[in-house]
Amino acid sequence: MVTQAPGSPDASRGSAAGLSRAELDALRVRELVACHIRLHELIGRDAPLTAVLTELVEGVERYEPSVIPCVVLLNRETNTLHPGAGPSLPPDWLGALDGLVIGPNIGSCGAAAWSGELAISEDMAVDPKWEPVRDFAAACGLRHCWSMPIAGADGDVLGTFALYGRQPRHPSPDHLELMQDSARLAGIAIERRLTMEKLIHDARHDSLTGLPNRRAIFEELETALPQTSSAAAAVMFVDLDGLKGVNDSLGHDRADEMIREIAGRLRTAVRGPDFVGRFGGDEFVIIATEIADRPQAAELAERVLEAVSRPMPGVGFPAMTASIGIAMITQTCDAPEAIRRADRAMYATKHAGRDAFQFDDGVIRAQSRRLVMARALHGAEMRGEMRLVFQPVFDFRRDNIAGVEALLRWCHPEFGEVSPAEFIPVAEESRAIIALGAWVLRESCELIGALSEQTGQPLELSVNSSACELARKGYATSVRQTIAHARFPVALLNLEVTETTLIGSDAATTRNLQELESLGVGIVLDDFGTGYSSLSVLKQHRIRGIKIDRGFIAGLPDDRVNHAIVAGVIGIARGMGCTVTAEGIENSCQKDALHAMDCERGQGFLLARPMTSKALTVLIHEAGAKQQARPAG
Ligand code: C2E
Ligand code: MG
Ligand code: MG
Repeated sequence: MVTQAPGSPDASRGSAAGLSRAELDALRVRELVACHIRLHELIGRDAPLTAVLTELVEGVERYEPSVIPCVVLLNRETNTLHPGAGPSLPPDWLGALDGLVIGPNIGSCGAAAWSGELAISEDMAVDPKWEPVRDFAAACGLRHCWSMPIAGADGDVLGTFALYGRQPRHPSPDHLELMQDSARLAGIAIERRLTMEKLIHDARHDSLTGLPNRRAIFEELETALPQTSSAAAAVMFVDLDGLKGVNDSLGHDRADEMIREIAGRLRTAVRGPDFVGRFGGDEFVIIATEIADRPQAAELAERVLEAVSRPMPGVGFPAMTASIGIAMITQTCDAPEAIRRADRAMYATKHAGRDAFQFDDGVIRAQSRRLVMARALHGAEMRGEMRLVFQPVFDFRRDNIAGVEALLRWCHPEFGEVSPAEFIPVAEESRAIIALGAWVLRESCELIGALSEQTGQPLELSVNSSACELARKGYATSVRQTIAHARFPVALLNLEVTETTLIGSDAATTRNLQELESLGVGIVLDDFGTGYSSLSVLKQHRIRGIKIDRGFIAGLPDDRVNHAIVAGVIGIARGMGCTVTAEGIENSCQKDALHAMDCERGQGFLLARPMTSKALTVLIHEAGAKQQARPAG
């Protein structure tokens, strides 16, 4: 506890002025003690953390007006700083602190939170830690900052207590003591708040999955129901089929692992505003407000069934299914009634044979084509249902085949041939595309590598890559391993990605793209013009080629707008030094128009349809023979 004001004069001086100063100091100390007592009361009464910290900071400021105190909180998950209290600091400065990632050279508070040690900056103008924000600090009128880490009982840093000032200054021993005391008090307040938050969280959440528990489900329903007067809401009771068997055969630990996995899948299968809770053992409840009608609820239930039934990671897990009961509710229905109705419908689904869903008025939904497809896509490549075709891409200038695009084909045992336009989006949503994409890459590298060797003509290979493949950690590494294994020349491989993949790219996608680019794999923009046609995407990535979507080629040569767009994209590609390919050339008028615009490459039914690798070999041989027969020059 501080007993003497920092910088107070020697009380032994004994002059009248000294005495009154000593009295003043005693008053200030008394006020500080009173402030500490108030703080303990506030903490004991669970007052809001900001109120407690503001009381602390204001008390310190009254006691020592020559400094500007503040408390900064540390988010330990994100390692970012957030203002706790600093009523006398410029609001702009507090705003700038919010979300700052800590580090050894991130001002005094960033450094103190990072190292867990006192960080003193006597003069920000010369301290290298302040370099990035020095000018901003000066504009806010700040010159010094001393920052003391606030430690929890376990020693972890919870934030920092800092004293700012408007002139360069070194802290006195009393200042340091003041900071230490304040940091200790702030630590008690923050820790108490964290404990309370954890208690509140634990009371409403299930410890195995982290999902809201039964109590929270009812609370959610109570708040959701009054808002469902105009639009309906769907309450779904989801019960896993046969979890008891997993418990018996694999033991409780593995069954717990499965429940955790499925809880995560349910969370990603629902839409943003939907609520997922764990009702009990193998029972989950989904509350979907803003559901307009039954078809929408049915669609959501299908997504849930599909997500549950995806193969489990690791070996030895049986595939899971679920039975779902759906109650469409309005505000006239109370929470227990909503759960009862959904639960009853779930039991009816169980009796009807499980692995399906049913509305509570008895309407059974047969499994849709989409759901059947989503399930059948997992492992389809291993069951021999998938095959590849290759569509040649022609080089107009050299008048030869520059390369091929690998295209996936699926023959489903019941549905027959399914178009990629139908099954690729389903494979993407169900993530089956991850295994399928890896298979396409492996197969096509092996087939085209062998074909190039056989014909003596190296061919570029383009493989389509979906956004979710590129967003996977380690995707670039697996591409590298696949091409190394197939001994396919990396410079001849292109990955076709769409603009949306690049525009919405997260950190993992960007990393994969950088790694692929540095490996020498070409990134080609597919279907250019159908997304945002964003020119900044072209600037941000090293693009090897652009493929103009067939929608623009279809209107050639008469459609003036399409003509102008195609000519523009050809110009951009040329300027950037990347290849440009016109997709979907179906007639010679289109081809002539593209020739006239000096388009470099083309692909389309007029030139060659997608074909088997055998047919491609014949075509390449024929094309080679034609070239040789052509008179030189
Ligand atoms: P895409 O990458 O733009 O592939 C070109 C599509 O245009 C192919 O359709 C091809 O058959 C079609 N096409 C080519 N020339 C013409 C033409 O002159 N006229 C018309 N009307 N169409 C033409 P396909 O094979 O049905 O594939 C559709 C889409 O499915 C592909 O569009 C691609 O986005 C996706 N896809 C196909 N295979 C794969 C794959 O292995 N992985 C991924 N992620 N997506 C794939
Ligand atoms: Mg493509
Ligand atoms: Mg395309």
